[in-house]
Amino acid sequence: MILLCMDGLDYQLSAKLKLHLPYEATPTIEKELCALLDNNYVPHTLHVWPSMFAGRPIRHPDIDKLIIHPIRAKGRATLHRLGINWGRKETQLRAYQKGIIYQRSVKPEETVFGEYPSFIYQIPGLVDNFLLGGTDDWYNYEHNVWRNLIRIADKLPYKLVAVYTRQPDHLGHRKRNPAVIYREGFMLAKQLEGDVMILSDHGCDYHTGNHTMNGYIGANFPFKAESIMDVKKIIEDRLKLNNSEVKVAAEAEIKREV
Ligand SMILES: [Zn+2]
Repeated sequence: MILLCMDGLDYQLSAKLKLHLPYEATPTIEKELCALLDNNYVPHTLHVWPSMFAGRPIRHPDIDKLIIHPIRAKGRATLHRLGINWGRKETQLRAYQKGIIYQRSVKPEETVFGEYPSFIYQIPGLVDNFLLGGTDDWYNYEHNVWRNLIRIADKLPYKLVAVYTRQPDHLGHRKRNPAVIYREGFMLAKQLEGDVMILSDHGCDYHTGNHTMNGYIGANFPFKAESIMDVKKIIEDRLKLNNSEVKVAAEAEIKREV
């Protein structure tokens, strides 16, 4: 199974762009997976992703490092409203350090990835030295790796492959239209062999630059989900089903030989 993890993919925008997978859900995000961001209490990347794969809420213990002082946040919001924005470029002084590095909050072995031979790339909360923030160049580099890994994902010798990009979230926060990235994600998903899902931890509305309250689960096989934390069970049920299908086929083969 291949999981295209797209941070901040907003289901309302993907629907508007007529981008769909055969089966879809827009799960709610529990309050305990939210954090204060720019004076709003919204789903937080570092809480949602590990919880999704562990099937239980896992808050990141260091999230308070991110909280901007309310006066600074207010000043920044005023400047943004006046159209005074600033870009992040590698040439800017210490721009790279503007991000904050986070260590994982749970071991991948303690999530659904511990149940199967798995490969993961950059999942927040599951990998060490995850950089939140950073420059455009860094986001572009990370997204390129994501794209190249997806192109070979169905050839990799793993039962579960999960690759992550933050580009939809990044562009949303920067108030740039992320349609190109959305189209690319759905196109790549449809080109792959086998079971494929697109997952998002919350939307990021590029008109407001803010997180929205629902995630997105899309798949090329049927599933049921209400909460974002149902993702673990969806994966388990599907892989179990595949195993038993393979077993039935193998048994039929043996009977024929006899
Ligand atoms: Zn996120």
